Amino acid sequence: MKKTLLTGDRPTGPLHLGHYVGSLKNRVLLQAQYDTYIMIADMQALTDHADKPDWIKKNVLEVVKDYLSVGIDPTCAKIFIQSQIPQLAELTMIFLNLVSVARLERNPTTKAEIQQKGYQDSVPAGFLCYPVSQAADIALFQASCVPVGDDQMPIIEVTNEIIRRFNHYYGSGCFIECEAITSSTSRLMGIDGQAKASKSLGNAIFLSDSAEVVKNKVMQMYTDPTHLKVSDPGNVEGNMVFHYLDAFHANKDEVADLKAHYQRGGLGDVTIKKILIETLNTLLSPIRERRAALTDQICLEILQSGTEKAQHTALQMMKNVHALMGISYFKS
Ligand code: ATP
Ligand code: MG
Repeated sequence: MKKTLLTGDRPTGPLHLGHYVGSLKNRVLLQAQYDTYIMIADMQALTDHADKPDWIKKNVLEVVKDYLSVGIDPTCAKIFIQSQIPQLAELTMIFLNLVSVARLERNPTTKAEIQQKGYQDSVPAGFLCYPVSQAADIALFQASCVPVGDDQMPIIEVTNEIIRRFNHYYGSGCFIECEAITSSTSRLMGIDGQAKASKSLGNAIFLSDSAEVVKNKVMQMYTDPTHLKVSDPGNVEGNMVFHYLDAFHANKDEVADLKAHYQRGGLGDVTIKKILIETLNTLLSPIRERRAALTDQICLEILQSGTEKAQHTALQMMKNVHALMGISYFKS
């Protein structure tokens, strides 16, 4: 029996290079080795976009196109929509009793997001609790392998705490602890250098960006504000062009040479930006081609088939949860 891999994305916009290096690459590598589930987290997107269900829905097919264009193979990965699995909401209700509000408020990822979004005293309860729904997503599919970026580490920690408490109260017949699988670039910064690349912050290069848009975004990238003349010695730390070259350039020795040259002085920002533009467009060009060949209909069919398989698994698992907790009342 294969172990299970589960991970997912919020349909809050197209996927970006952070998703690619942080999680998508690992999913493509591992998809055949594991029983793979990839979830489009539309319910989680509602936790901070409750007023925009139409917009969330519109984003869903774009995310499916991003998956298929980077090489997610629907014959081994089940791509499904969170809202169509009501058992996830049910398990979230059960899990909410297994974690304290104080524990959720201490979560550094949600804490930072609450600050970024300026919620102050008006944090939606669903937003504070989204790590609990994420715990339910992972647990219900018995995922042991969760390829994610490093912003998800505190959430994986809460997930395992909830699973341990569940197993302690009700027995360990249903849920197993999971492990986060991170990559060498588990946090790709945004082009502004201020925070991680994120759909919500408008600081990301999207997998679907045209060559022209990629060029413009790289040209705006934050480098070293003290590197005024080409001859000035420059900093590579905190310089987004080098951060992206580290993440995407195939030749590490060449990047090391460029860094040494930049630090010595004599290498201009425009030169390194041109190298990065070429590197990114080489990566993105086949992804764009595969994307162009996909129709909405194909994506919808793949999504429906993956969702039906996920529904089947979820139904079986929830029966086991009911039995373990002794909350079944009638003969079925
Ligand atoms: P939003 O701004 O709406 O939260 P996001 O860009 O943070 O969107 P998510 O859908 O929240 O994207 O994240 C999906 C997955 O991609 C998670 O596993 C997350 O850790 C990973 N990920 C997101 N951004 C990055 C990044 N900049 N670097 C590495 N991994 C990332
Ligand atoms: Mg996010």
